[in-house]
Amino acid sequence: MSEARRCFCGGFARLKTSCTKDNPERRFWTCYRKKGCGYFDWFDPQMCARSKMIILGLLRIDKADDELKRSRRREKLLRFFIVIDVHIAILSANANQHKGLNGMKTGLELA
Ligand SMILES: [Zn+2]
Repeated sequence: MSEARRCFCGGFARLKTSCTKDNPERRFWTCYRKKGCGYFDWFDPQMCARSKMIILGLLRIDKADDELKRSRRREKLLRFFIVIDVHIAILSANANQHKGLNGMKTGLELA
């Protein structure tokens, strides 16, 4: 699908995706090394203003959707801990009640 490119170093250039407001999700070629040779070339053609606006809008929706998912995960985790806390409280109350019954039995045994 994508053609292989070589940067000024002679290695295969990496295809990356821009996340700038001016070029949202537009792919470009760059050097394969971290501090590379400065090679740069666009892979995707330039977008019209309307396309940029639509993509930025979709990215905002996507971001809001991610935030909603994170929020739901947090809520689920919180509910889990509340349930665990209630179970611990019930078990603790039962254990105390059981101790009390044992104490009564001991008292009855004495009588
Ligand atoms: Zn290079």
